[in-house]
Amino acid sequence: MSLPLNSHDDFEGFGREVFGQKFFGRKFSERKLPGRKLFERKLPGRKLSLFLDFDGTLAPIAGTPALAELPPASREVLRRLCFIYPVAVISGRGLVDIREKVGLTGITYGANHGMTIRSGPSGPGSRLSGTVSQPSGSACRGFEMDYDVGAERLVELRAAAKVLGAVEARYEGLVMEDKGATLSLHYRQLPGVQVEALMKELDNELAPFKERGLVRVTGGKKVVELRPDVDWNKGRAVEWILGREPFISTYPVYIGDDETDRDGFRAVRGIGASVYVGAEDKDTSYHMEQSSVVGFLRWLIEFGVSR
Ligand SMILES: [Mg+2]
Repeated sequence: MSLPLNSHDDFEGFGREVFGQKFFGRKFSERKLPGRKLFERKLPGRKLSLFLDFDGTLAPIAGTPALAELPPASREVLRRLCFIYPVAVISGRGLVDIREKVGLTGITYGANHGMTIRSGPSGPGSRLSGTVSQPSGSACRGFEMDYDVGAERLVELRAAAKVLGAVEARYEGLVMEDKGATLSLHYRQLPGVQVEALMKELDNELAPFKERGLVRVTGGKKVVELRPDVDWNKGRAVEWILGREPFISTYPVYIGDDETDRDGFRAVRGIGASVYVGAEDKDTSYHMEQSSVVGFLRWLIEFGVSR
Protein backbone atom coordinates (compact mmCIF):
# COMPACT_ATOMS: atom_id res chain seq x y z
CA MET A 1 0.00 0.00 0.00
CA SER A 2 1.26 3.49 -0.81
CA LEU A 3 2.29 5.96 1.89
CA PRO A 4 0.86 9.49 1.88
CA LEU A 5 2.95 12.49 0.79
CA ASN A 6 0.67 15.39 1.63
CA SER A 7 2.34 17.28 4.43
CA HIS A 8 5.77 18.43 5.51
CA ASP A 9 5.94 15.49 7.96
CA ASP A 10 5.19 13.06 5.12
CA PHE A 11 7.93 14.66 2.99
CA GLU A 12 10.39 14.30 5.87
CA GLY A 13 9.36 10.66 6.15
CA PHE A 14 10.13 10.22 2.45
CA GLY A 15 13.59 11.72 3.04
CA ARG A 16 14.25 9.36 5.91
CA GLU A 17 13.06 6.36 3.95
CA VAL A 18 14.93 7.16 0.76
CA PHE A 19 18.17 8.54 2.14
CA GLY A 20 18.27 7.13 5.64
CA GLN A 21 18.37 8.74 9.06
CA LYS A 22 22.13 9.22 8.90
CA PHE A 23 22.11 12.12 6.48
CA PHE A 24 18.70 13.37 7.31
CA GLY A 25 18.18 16.79 8.82
CA ARG A 26 21.85 17.77 8.93
CA LYS A 27 22.53 21.40 8.44
CA PHE A 28 25.46 22.41 6.30
CA SER A 29 27.23 25.70 6.56
CA GLU A 30 27.68 25.70 2.77
CA ARG A 31 23.95 26.23 2.35
CA LYS A 32 24.59 29.07 -0.06
CA LEU A 33 26.72 27.02 -2.47
CA PRO A 34 25.13 26.45 -5.90
CA GLY A 35 22.66 23.65 -5.39
CA ARG A 36 23.91 21.18 -7.97
CA LYS A 37 27.52 21.40 -6.85
CA LEU A 38 26.68 20.95 -3.21
CA PHE A 39 24.25 18.19 -3.95
CA GLU A 40 26.75 16.21 -5.98
CA ARG A 41 29.34 16.53 -3.24
CA LYS A 42 27.00 15.28 -0.55
CA LEU A 43 25.27 12.60 -2.50
CA PRO A 44 27.70 10.71 -4.69
CA GLY A 45 25.73 8.10 -6.56
CA ARG A 46 22.46 8.96 -4.85
CA LYS A 47 21.38 11.83 -6.97
CA LEU A 48 17.65 12.10 -7.40
CA SER A 49 15.94 12.57 -10.75
CA LEU A 50 12.33 13.55 -11.33
CA PHE A 51 9.90 12.19 -13.92
CA LEU A 52 6.71 14.19 -13.90
CA ASP A 53 3.44 13.80 -15.72
CA PHE A 54 1.81 17.09 -16.68
CA ASP A 55 -2.02 17.00 -16.73
CA GLY A 56 -3.46 16.15 -13.34
CA THR A 57 0.03 16.11 -11.82
CA LEU A 58 1.84 19.41 -12.40
CA ALA A 59 -1.26 21.17 -13.72
CA PRO A 60 -4.77 20.72 -12.33
CA ILE A 61 -7.15 18.95 -14.71
CA ALA A 62 -9.08 21.51 -16.76
CA GLY A 63 -12.28 21.31 -18.80
CA THR A 64 -10.32 20.96 -22.03
CA PRO A 65 -6.60 20.25 -22.62
CA ALA A 66 -6.14 23.77 -24.03
CA LEU A 67 -7.34 25.29 -20.76
CA ALA A 68 -4.85 23.41 -18.55
CA GLU A 69 -2.27 25.79 -17.13
CA LEU A 70 0.88 25.44 -15.09
CA PRO A 71 0.45 27.99 -12.27
CA PRO A 72 3.29 30.58 -12.36
CA ALA A 73 4.40 29.62 -8.84
CA SER A 74 4.72 25.98 -9.92
CA ARG A 75 6.75 27.02 -12.98
CA GLU A 76 9.14 28.87 -10.70
CA VAL A 77 9.50 25.81 -8.45
CA LEU A 78 10.17 23.64 -11.52
CA ARG A 79 12.76 26.09 -12.78
CA ARG A 80 14.58 25.96 -9.43
CA LEU A 81 14.24 22.18 -9.30
CA CYS A 82 16.29 21.98 -12.51
CA PHE A 83 19.21 23.62 -10.72
CA ILE A 84 19.48 20.60 -8.46
CA TYR A 85 18.02 17.53 -10.15
CA PRO A 86 17.65 16.21 -13.68
CA VAL A 87 13.96 16.71 -14.48
CA ALA A 88 11.85 15.12 -17.21
CA VAL A 89 8.21 15.85 -18.03
CA ILE A 90 6.56 12.81 -19.58
CA SER A 91 3.22 13.55 -21.19
CA GLY A 92 0.64 12.34 -23.66
CA ARG A 93 0.72 15.80 -25.26
CA GLY A 94 2.62 16.57 -28.45
CA LEU A 95 6.11 18.10 -28.21
CA VAL A 96 5.29 21.67 -29.23
CA ASP A 97 2.26 21.68 -26.95
CA ILE A 98 3.98 20.34 -23.82
CA ARG A 99 7.01 22.60 -24.29
CA GLU A 100 4.70 25.57 -24.53
CA LYS A 101 2.65 24.54 -21.50
CA VAL A 102 5.71 24.01 -19.29
CA GLY A 103 7.71 26.85 -20.84
CA LEU A 104 11.16 25.93 -19.49
CA THR A 105 14.32 24.89 -21.31
CA GLY A 106 16.19 23.02 -18.58
CA ILE A 107 13.80 20.10 -18.74
CA THR A 108 13.82 16.88 -20.74
CA TYR A 109 10.52 16.40 -22.56
CA GLY A 110 9.01 13.02 -23.30
CA ALA A 111 6.05 13.93 -25.51
CA ASN A 112 3.45 11.65 -27.13
CA HIS A 113 3.65 9.18 -24.23
CA GLY A 114 7.43 9.15 -24.52
CA MET A 115 7.63 8.50 -28.25
CA THR A 116 9.22 11.90 -28.86
CA ILE A 117 12.08 12.75 -26.50
CA ARG A 118 14.10 15.98 -26.38
CA SER A 119 16.57 16.74 -23.63
CA GLY A 120 17.03 20.17 -22.19
CA PRO A 121 20.40 21.67 -21.40
CA SER A 122 21.58 20.67 -17.95
CA GLY A 123 21.48 23.19 -15.18
CA PRO A 124 19.03 25.96 -14.57
CA GLY A 125 15.96 26.09 -16.74
CA SER A 126 15.31 29.45 -18.28
CA ARG A 127 12.05 30.77 -19.58
CA LEU A 128 11.49 29.48 -23.07
CA SER A 129 11.75 32.21 -25.66
CA GLY A 130 11.59 31.02 -29.23
CA THR A 131 14.73 28.95 -29.49
CA VAL A 132 16.11 26.44 -27.04
CA SER A 133 19.73 27.22 -26.37
CA GLN A 134 22.30 24.71 -25.20
CA PRO A 135 25.19 26.05 -23.15
CA SER A 136 28.48 25.10 -24.79
CA GLY A 137 30.70 22.78 -22.82
CA SER A 138 27.73 21.62 -20.82
CA ALA A 139 28.06 18.19 -19.21
CA CYS A 140 24.82 17.23 -20.90
CA ARG A 141 25.28 17.44 -24.65
CA GLY A 142 21.65 16.74 -25.18
CA PHE A 143 19.84 13.79 -26.64
CA GLU A 144 16.75 13.19 -28.67
CA MET A 145 14.73 10.27 -29.88
CA ASP A 146 11.79 9.76 -32.20
CA TYR A 147 10.31 6.33 -31.90
CA ASP A 148 9.72 4.90 -35.36
CA VAL A 149 6.23 3.41 -35.35
CA GLY A 150 6.40 2.37 -39.00
CA ALA A 151 4.47 3.62 -42.05
CA GLU A 152 1.69 1.05 -41.72
CA ARG A 153 0.72 2.23 -38.23
CA LEU A 154 0.88 5.88 -39.25
CA VAL A 155 -1.53 5.24 -42.13
CA GLU A 156 -3.82 3.43 -39.69
CA LEU A 157 -3.66 6.41 -37.29
CA ARG A 158 -4.62 8.78 -40.12
CA ALA A 159 -7.64 6.61 -40.86
CA ALA A 160 -8.53 6.56 -37.16
CA ALA A 161 -8.19 10.36 -37.00
CA LYS A 162 -10.85 10.66 -39.70
CA VAL A 163 -13.20 8.33 -37.83
CA LEU A 164 -12.69 10.16 -34.50
CA GLY A 165 -13.10 13.51 -36.24
CA ALA A 166 -16.50 12.38 -37.55
CA VAL A 167 -17.53 11.20 -34.06
CA GLU A 168 -16.37 14.52 -32.60
CA ALA A 169 -18.62 16.40 -35.03
CA ARG A 170 -21.66 14.40 -33.93
CA TYR A 171 -21.46 15.36 -30.22
CA GLU A 172 -21.43 18.74 -28.52
CA GLY A 173 -18.60 18.87 -25.98
CA LEU A 174 -16.08 16.46 -27.51
CA VAL A 175 -12.52 17.60 -28.18
CA MET A 176 -10.39 15.55 -30.54
CA GLU A 177 -6.64 16.11 -30.44
CA ASP A 178 -4.53 14.92 -33.34
CA LYS A 179 -0.93 14.82 -32.15
CA GLY A 180 0.46 13.09 -35.19
CA ALA A 181 1.79 10.01 -33.43
CA THR A 182 -1.21 9.70 -31.09
CA LEU A 183 -4.88 10.73 -30.94
CA SER A 184 -7.01 11.73 -27.96
CA LEU A 185 -10.75 12.16 -27.72
CA HIS A 186 -11.64 14.15 -24.60
CA TYR A 187 -15.20 13.92 -23.30
CA ARG A 188 -14.95 15.83 -20.01
CA GLN A 189 -17.45 18.40 -21.26
CA LEU A 190 -19.89 15.91 -22.72
CA PRO A 191 -23.14 15.73 -20.71
CA GLY A 192 -23.01 12.61 -18.49
CA VAL A 193 -26.16 11.12 -20.03
CA GLN A 194 -24.47 10.93 -23.44
CA VAL A 195 -21.33 9.10 -22.31
CA GLU A 196 -22.86 5.65 -22.67
CA ALA A 197 -24.03 6.38 -26.23
CA LEU A 198 -20.59 7.73 -27.10
CA MET A 199 -18.84 4.62 -25.73
CA LYS A 200 -21.16 2.38 -27.73
CA GLU A 201 -20.49 4.35 -30.88
CA LEU A 202 -16.73 4.28 -30.29
CA ASP A 203 -16.89 0.52 -29.69
CA ASN A 204 -18.50 0.09 -33.11
CA GLU A 205 -16.36 2.60 -34.97
CA LEU A 206 -13.09 1.42 -33.50
CA ALA A 207 -13.79 -2.33 -33.72
CA PRO A 208 -12.07 -2.75 -37.13
CA PHE A 209 -9.02 -0.91 -35.80
CA LYS A 210 -8.84 -3.13 -32.74
CA GLU A 211 -9.19 -6.15 -34.98
CA ARG A 212 -6.28 -5.12 -37.23
CA GLY A 213 -4.18 -4.54 -34.10
CA LEU A 214 -2.03 -1.72 -35.48
CA VAL A 215 -3.29 0.84 -33.00
CA ARG A 216 -4.09 0.45 -29.33
CA VAL A 217 -7.17 2.02 -27.74
CA THR A 218 -6.84 2.98 -24.08
CA GLY A 219 -8.99 4.87 -21.62
CA GLY A 220 -7.96 7.52 -19.14
CA LYS A 221 -9.60 10.26 -17.15
CA LYS A 222 -12.48 11.32 -19.45
CA VAL A 223 -10.35 10.56 -22.49
CA VAL A 224 -10.06 7.80 -25.07
CA GLU A 225 -6.59 7.51 -26.55
CA LEU A 226 -5.29 5.85 -29.68
CA ARG A 227 -1.63 5.02 -29.98
CA PRO A 228 0.37 2.87 -32.37
CA ASP A 229 0.44 -0.64 -30.94
CA VAL A 230 4.17 -0.75 -30.34
CA ASP A 231 6.29 -1.90 -27.46
CA TRP A 232 6.89 1.66 -26.28
CA ASN A 233 5.20 3.67 -23.55
CA LYS A 234 5.96 6.15 -20.78
CA GLY A 235 7.85 3.43 -18.88
CA ARG A 236 10.08 2.53 -21.81
CA ALA A 237 10.80 6.23 -22.25
CA VAL A 238 11.81 6.51 -18.58
CA GLU A 239 14.17 3.53 -18.98
CA TRP A 240 15.65 5.07 -22.14
CA ILE A 241 16.20 8.46 -20.48
CA LEU A 242 17.73 6.79 -17.40
CA GLY A 243 20.42 5.44 -19.71
CA ARG A 244 21.53 8.96 -20.61
CA GLU A 245 23.38 11.70 -18.76
CA PRO A 246 22.60 13.39 -16.49
CA PHE A 247 20.04 10.74 -15.51
CA ILE A 248 22.40 7.74 -15.32
CA SER A 249 22.63 6.16 -11.84
CA THR A 250 20.08 8.52 -10.35
CA TYR A 251 17.28 7.53 -7.98
CA PRO A 252 14.22 8.21 -10.16
CA VAL A 253 11.03 9.55 -8.62
CA TYR A 254 8.05 9.17 -10.97
CA ILE A 255 4.93 11.20 -10.19
CA GLY A 256 1.78 10.66 -12.25
CA ASP A 257 -1.99 10.41 -12.01
CA ASP A 258 -3.30 8.34 -14.89
CA GLU A 259 -3.38 4.84 -16.33
CA THR A 260 -0.56 5.54 -18.80
CA ASP A 261 1.64 6.47 -15.83
CA ARG A 262 1.45 2.88 -14.57
CA ASP A 263 4.19 2.00 -17.08
CA GLY A 264 6.28 4.79 -15.58
CA PHE A 265 5.69 3.44 -12.06
CA ARG A 266 6.79 -0.03 -13.20
CA ALA A 267 9.94 1.41 -14.79
CA VAL A 268 11.18 2.81 -11.46
CA ARG A 269 10.17 -0.16 -9.33
CA GLY A 270 13.15 -1.36 -7.33
CA ILE A 271 15.38 1.52 -8.41
CA GLY A 272 13.37 4.55 -7.33
CA ALA A 273 10.05 5.74 -5.98
CA SER A 274 6.63 5.87 -7.61
CA VAL A 275 4.11 8.47 -6.52
CA TYR A 276 0.47 8.18 -7.54
CA VAL A 277 -1.45 11.45 -7.62
CA GLY A 278 -4.77 10.46 -6.12
CA ALA A 279 -6.04 8.25 -3.31
CA GLU A 280 -4.11 5.38 -1.71
CA ASP A 281 -2.78 3.01 -4.34
CA LYS A 282 -1.64 -0.59 -4.29
CA ASP A 283 0.95 -0.39 -7.06
CA THR A 284 2.96 2.64 -6.00
CA SER A 285 5.23 3.45 -3.05
CA TYR A 286 3.52 6.77 -2.29
CA HIS A 287 0.43 8.77 -3.10
CA MET A 288 -0.42 12.46 -2.87
CA GLU A 289 -3.12 14.99 -3.73
CA GLN A 290 -2.53 17.08 -6.84
CA SER A 291 -2.47 20.17 -4.62
CA SER A 292 0.51 18.69 -2.70
CA VAL A 293 2.73 18.13 -5.75
CA VAL A 294 4.28 21.58 -5.88
CA GLY A 295 4.86 21.60 -2.10
CA PHE A 296 6.69 18.29 -2.39
CA LEU A 297 8.86 19.62 -5.23
CA ARG A 298 9.60 22.72 -3.16
CA TRP A 299 10.59 20.49 -0.26
CA LEU A 300 12.87 18.47 -2.56
CA ILE A 301 14.66 21.70 -3.48
CA GLU A 302 15.21 22.59 0.18
CA PHE A 303 16.21 19.01 0.89
CA GLY A 304 18.68 18.89 -2.02
CA VAL A 305 20.27 22.19 -1.12
CA SER A 306 20.62 21.45 2.59
CA ARG A 307 22.14 17.98 2.27
MG1 LIG B 1 -1.91 12.91 -16.17
